[in-house]
Amino acid sequence: MAYDPNNIFAKILRGEIPCQKIDEDDHTLSFADIHPQAPVHILVIPKGAYVDWADFAANASAEEIHAFTKAISRVAELSGISETGYRVISNIGANSHQEVPHLHMHVLGGAPVGPLVMTMA
Ligand code: AMP
Repeated sequence: MAYDPNNIFAKILRGEIPCQKIDEDDHTLSFADIHPQAPVHILVIPKGAYVDWADFAANASAEEIHAFTKAISRVAELSGISETGYRVISNIGANSHQEVPHLHMHVLGGAPVGPLVMTMA
């Protein structure tokens, strides 16, 4: 899938719509999810234009991958959920119900987050 520069996270990165920023560095931005699914629900995104994890793994630089990996645990530390634990999820494509076509990691914590996935019907 080609990257859509009009997706909502691209607009956040361009400063066209606001976000509740948690953390930022040269390659990443982290902000609160607008519809939190846990007491702490943060989205970590790369600043580069990557549709999803597969696109990022194939095309991002080593520096971008390094920064993104570090950012995930850093926001957990900053939000005080490192000690109690948290879940990191990334949706990729239609079966996962990925809504926003810009790579993002959901960082969820602050309370027990339940089963990993819905059981098969
Ligand atoms: P996904 O289904 O993995 O693509 O998740 C997209 C996430 O983006 C959802 O959890 C939404 O609540 C969240 N979201 C959508 N728009 C915004 C926004 N403007 N600011 C923060 N989070 C958003």
